[in-house]
Order: sequence, then C-alpha cells, then structure tokens
Amino acid sequence: MTTLAAPATVAELLRRQRAYWATGATRSLDFRLDRLKALQAAIVKYQAEIIDAAKQDLGRPEFEGYIEVAVIGELDYVIKHLRRWAKPRKASIPLSQMPGSAWVQPEPLGVALIIGPWNYPFQLIISPLMGAIAAGNCAMLKPSELAPATSSVLARLIEETFDPAHVALVEGGVDTAQALLAEKFDHIFYTGGERVGKIVMQAAAQHLTPVTLELGGKSPCIIDADVNMDVAARRIVWGKCLNAGQTCVAPDYLLVDERIKAELVAALQQRIKDCYGENPAQSPDYSRVVNERQFDRLVGLLGQGTILAGGDHNRGDRYIAPTLMDDISWDAPIMQEEIFGPILPILTYRDLGDAIANLNQRPKPLALYLFSRDRQVQAQVLEQTTAGSVCINDVILQITVWDMPFGGVGSSGIGAYHGQYSFDTFSHLKSVLKKPFWLDMDWRYPPYESKVKLFQKMIGLS
Ligand code: NAD
Repeated sequence: MTTLAAPATVAELLRRQRAYWATGATRSLDFRLDRLKALQAAIVKYQAEIIDAAKQDLGRPEFEGYIEVAVIGELDYVIKHLRRWAKPRKASIPLSQMPGSAWVQPEPLGVALIIGPWNYPFQLIISPLMGAIAAGNCAMLKPSELAPATSSVLARLIEETFDPAHVALVEGGVDTAQALLAEKFDHIFYTGGERVGKIVMQAAAQHLTPVTLELGGKSPCIIDADVNMDVAARRIVWGKCLNAGQTCVAPDYLLVDERIKAELVAALQQRIKDCYGENPAQSPDYSRVVNERQFDRLVGLLGQGTILAGGDHNRGDRYIAPTLMDDISWDAPIMQEEIFGPILPILTYRDLGDAIANLNQRPKPLALYLFSRDRQVQAQVLEQTTAGSVCINDVILQITVWDMPFGGVGSSGIGAYHGQYSFDTFSHLKSVLKKPFWLDMDWRYPPYESKVKLFQKMIGLS
C-alpha cells in the first residue's frame, strides 16, 4: 500500500512522478481516457466498500453512501467531453496582427497535490482527481485522517488502479499534509476549512504554486412569503439533515419573512418527523457527527436561543437530533461560525432590503439559497448579494450541474472545478499567436519618424 508519511518518502514519490511526467506519457488523450475509465471501473468494483466505509466513518445510511459513488456520473461526463475540452480554442485577432492566427492551447501543469476533507471523504478526493488526470497531470492524494475507513479504501483503490508514478495516495494526518506541502507541486487543490486553507496558501506561496481552495462558510437560506411551504420544508430539512448537516453547501441558517415564520416552523417540525420519526436516534436514515471534537463543539452551540425541535444528543453515539433554533440574533456566537452539523437557526426579516444588507456585512458564503416564486424577489437577491453559487427554490443541487463551476468567493474559496472547470483548473491555458513570413509591415519598426500618427490611429485614438 502507498502509505508513505515520512518526508523523505514523499520526496522520493514526487521525484518519481516528476520523472514520469517528463516522459510525456500522461499527455496522450488515449492514456488519459484509459485511466479515467479504469478509475470508473474501480469505483464500480469498490462501491460496497466505499458505502461501508462511509457508514463506519459517519454512520451514513446506504442511500447517502451512494452520494460518494455518484462521482462516476461526473466521470462519464468528463470522459464524454474530454476530447473537445483538450482541443485548441480559436481566438480572434486584432486587425493589427493580421495576417496570423491565434489560439489557446490547454496543456498539463505537471504534478498536482490534492488534499481532502472528512465530510465527503471519497468524492472530494476523486472529483478533483478526475480533473487532474483529464488535464494530463500526475497527482498525489492526501485524504483526511478523520475518515480513516474511507482513507483506507481510497488507498487500496488507487494502488490497484494506478502506477504510483502517475497517481499516488499518501495516508496520514497533519504531519503528512505538512510534509507534502513542504514540496514543490505545480498545483495544490485543497478542500477543507478556512484556517487550514490559509496554511495551505502560505505553504504554496513559498514555491509560487497556484492553489484552488474549496472552503466553507455560513450559507444562508432566505424564505420569502411567496412559496409552496410544504415543498420548501421538504427540501430544507433534506439539505440540512443530509450527512447530519456536515455538508459544505448545507443551508447554515434560515432567514425567513416574519409573516410566514410560524407556518414554516410547523412545516419543518412535521417534515423532520416524516423523515426520521419521533426519535431520529432510531432512524436508519440519519447520520452521525464525525467525532467527539465536532460533537462537543456542536453541543456547545445548543445553549443559545430557544429550541423548537430536537436538541437531544448522545455523546457515546455522536448523535445530535435535527434541531431548530429560535430567538437567535445576528450577534449570537452560533452566527459567527459555520455550524457544519444538524442545527438550524431561524432568523426573521420584515424588509428584504434589510436582510440583504445584513448578509452583505458578513463573509461571502459558499452557497446562497432563496425560496420564492416572486421573480422580482429572485432578481433582487441575485443582483444584490454574492455567493459561490445560488440555488433558487431548492438546496445543494446546484453542485450536481457539472456544466457550472463549483467554488467559493472571498473567504469561501479561491478557484472552482467540476466538468470543464476542473479540466481548466488543472491546465495551463497557453496562448499561441502564429504569424506567416509572407507579409511584414514596417509600421512598428524604428526609425519611428512619421509613424506616430499611424500608430495613434491603430490604437484607436483618432
Ligand atoms: P480541515 O481543514 O480540518 O482538514 C482538511 C485537510 O487538511 C485534511 O486532509 C487534513 O489532514 C489537512 N490538515 C488539517 N490540519 C492541517 C494543517 N495544520 N496543515 C496542513 N494540513 C492540514 O477541514 P475539515 O474539517 O476536514 O473539513 C471541514 C471544512 O471543509 C468545512 O468548513 C467545510 O465547509 C469545508 N468543505 C468545503 C467543501 C467545498 O467543496 N468547498 C467541501 C467539503 C468541506
């Protein structure tokens, strides 16, 4: 197994990947497609183990375990479109450069480092990996040590599928991540929290390595008065309770038109019962908090405000019930950090403009949700707020549209991926201008005498 934590071993692995990359083998489109198909076949083969690992790491129900395996859908999409993405992209040239032709030619960056988090520990390593392979790179993977069962399945799957000179996986914790970050890579793709994101960026700066940082933050969910209450409640409870709220794009808190708050709360309470029964601890469909540290942090948030549903918890089982919280102010501690668990504060607004002003004073979120049938409200929210992505009248599902970039803005992240955006993230888009010899105009060469007027004209001054 490629479990190599010592800095010397990391350096040796990297040396082998650099040597392999230099052979040019990874540039061939046939090679890339073959490796992507091999990855797809390996995921199909390992699906039961992946789902079992998600159960061990996060108490995931089988259905939610399949969210990890669902990356094969994106693999299909990448395999189908790769030849087109890899083609040179024609550029139009200004009159002054004619005759000539110009194009943008994607080329691989070299060796990429991909560091993953624990919450979707399989998918968030494999999804960037497919971009790295598709773009023709070698890749070094470091899954999260906090999801050890998944890390172990990933290690076996990768070792069985790839030559480690092309794709290698290094298991381990912070020391291993730091040993990797001390090396010079050609791109670093990090998914996780903001604090470590800064450490990654600082390490990358030592080598001027470009980074993609897929971070988190508090994703608001605005609920206007003009909604189908029942459907809104179904979708919100699903998005908040999926993986026990440990989803980077889960709705973090609700911001509700005060006129419909009572009705919405009743619908949410009912929906929690419909999905998880009177006692969600006994539901086979409800996940657990990843570890005791996260459990203690989340339980610490329960002391604020009034609990409208849930609130019960059990440390031995790392269980926290789906919880609705009322009487939370913008200044409350729970509104200062990403919740990342099954606790949903409900704030209200009277005037949408004030609510938007409040949102805009806070860090830019990874996602923003709006439930409203009113097109003017939709337009107002889209125009006056910012977020990595938006979903109107649903939650989370915007990230399944592979034709759109997935990433944050401001403190929720730098860069984006999915589909062609992954391909571009792991490519250098090289600009090429090609000129023939048969015409060589004199206007740009010294002596410049009498050419200034012509140049002025050419740059559009007269
Ligand atoms: P984390 O920051 O604790 O850890 C992520 C990775 O960083 C792990 O592989 C870990 O080993 C490594 N790491 C931890 N400490 C390190 C250090 N000091 N130096 C170098 N590497 C270190 O993140 P997490 O707790 O695993 O993930 C939760 C966060 O990730 C949440 O904020 C969530 O919103 C965010 N997230 C974002 C996305 C996204 O796509 N934008 C997806 C999932 C999670």
